[in-house]
Amino acid sequence: MGKFTGYQCSLCGAEYPPDQPIYACPVDGGNLDVLLDLHHVRLQLGAGGLPQEGEPGLWRYLPLLPVDDPGGRGTPLRLAGWTPVFEPASLAAELGLRRLWIKDESHNPTASFKDRASAVVIARARQIGAEVVVTASTGNAGAALAGMAAAVGHKAVIFAPRSAPPAKVAQLLVYGATVLLVDGSYDDAFDLTIQASEAFGWYCRNTGYNPFTAEGKKTAAFEVWDWHRKTRPGFALSEMKLFISVGDGNIISGIHKGFKDLQALGWIEAPPQLIGVQAEGSAAIANAYARGDERIIPVQSTTIADSISVDLPRDGVRAVRAAVQTGGRYVLVSDAEILSAIAALGKAGLFAEPAGATAYAGLVKAIGEGWVGADDAVFVLNTGSGLKDVRAAMQAVKEAPVIKPSLDAVKSVIKS
Ligand SMILES: *Cc1c(COP(=O)(O)O)cnc(C)c1O
Ligand SMILES: [Zn+2]
Repeated sequence: MGKFTGYQCSLCGAEYPPDQPIYACPVDGGNLDVLLDLHHVRLQLGAGGLPQEGEPGLWRYLPLLPVDDPGGRGTPLRLAGWTPVFEPASLAAELGLRRLWIKDESHNPTASFKDRASAVVIARARQIGAEVVVTASTGNAGAALAGMAAAVGHKAVIFAPRSAPPAKVAQLLVYGATVLLVDGSYDDAFDLTIQASEAFGWYCRNTGYNPFTAEGKKTAAFEVWDWHRKTRPGFALSEMKLFISVGDGNIISGIHKGFKDLQALGWIEAPPQLIGVQAEGSAAIANAYARGDERIIPVQSTTIADSISVDLPRDGVRAVRAAVQTGGRYVLVSDAEILSAIAALGKAGLFAEPAGATAYAGLVKAIGEGWVGADDAVFVLNTGSGLKDVRAAMQAVKEAPVIKPSLDAVKSVIKS
């Protein structure tokens, strides 16, 4: 302990001590930022800073995380994060870009970005002796919590909307979590989870409610920084545009927090420009950005990208700030554009679920609108695997022909 010094409300600025059991600001419900004593961190690490070598997961960043080492060596808990970065030349050529990278979060143990948050929340649960961890989820947060919990023998309870894609529900069940499918929306599941956690004393992981999820998600920023300092691509981080799909807004605000930590440590001069991409049918954060204020007005969300389908984003204010404070912006894409992005990524060997491909769809949109071009350095996150939602994937491509088992049948198909 020592480096985790408390919480600060992102709305009113009130501070709370680290040992207070707390999720959101009791005064105004604002999201809490985790406060770290970075001076203490810098002294501990010494002149060399964070070593460039470490274990192949996000725990290499433990000195910058507000939790103790959770153990779990030899389990998937150790392998959350540290995902590959690809440089897809065919996509860059198609888009007329010279500098394009894609970080593929489908390589996480449960196949989405959410493992980063769930791994750190499990570490926190172990530290405070919380036996049961509960979350609301459109699917991925739950799968991540269920998987990370199972890895170290922890109990997980998941509330998901009954409309969640079957592959995600299968994951929850196979990992052995207690699964409750709510006959309602993600937002209904969210509110019910908070009631249940209060009634039964469960530790609640809810995205944009538990302050530790953003701390897990910030490790993606550390990895982008590590990639940049290792590959030395010839431009400053602040010249780069980082495309991120946005639902509740917790990934983009967590990544923003990571870059703010690095800046406070004096390890980077300025963050990349964070570009939030939302689906047109689930655009509460982008709407606030477009109006030029921080008021998040709920929408009736409808999009094929279930992982970013949210009526009332739970981390909206910080998500708006992430774009504004880094010189980034928001952009909207249609479901048709998301499906095209799935097909385009597939041709480069990357299989994304709709919400995962949304960031790439935003890049295509940005190029079409003329505010990204050949001179830009672009970095895109794919946040989740296409195997999570096979029905959506099939909508992105033409059906395969069914043929008789004869060479003639093959010949007639090959000709046409
Ligand atoms: C959760 C999720 C997102 C969006 O993250 P938020 O924190 O809700 O903005 C994007 N893509 C995938 C695959 C996700 O699971
Ligand atoms: Zn407050």
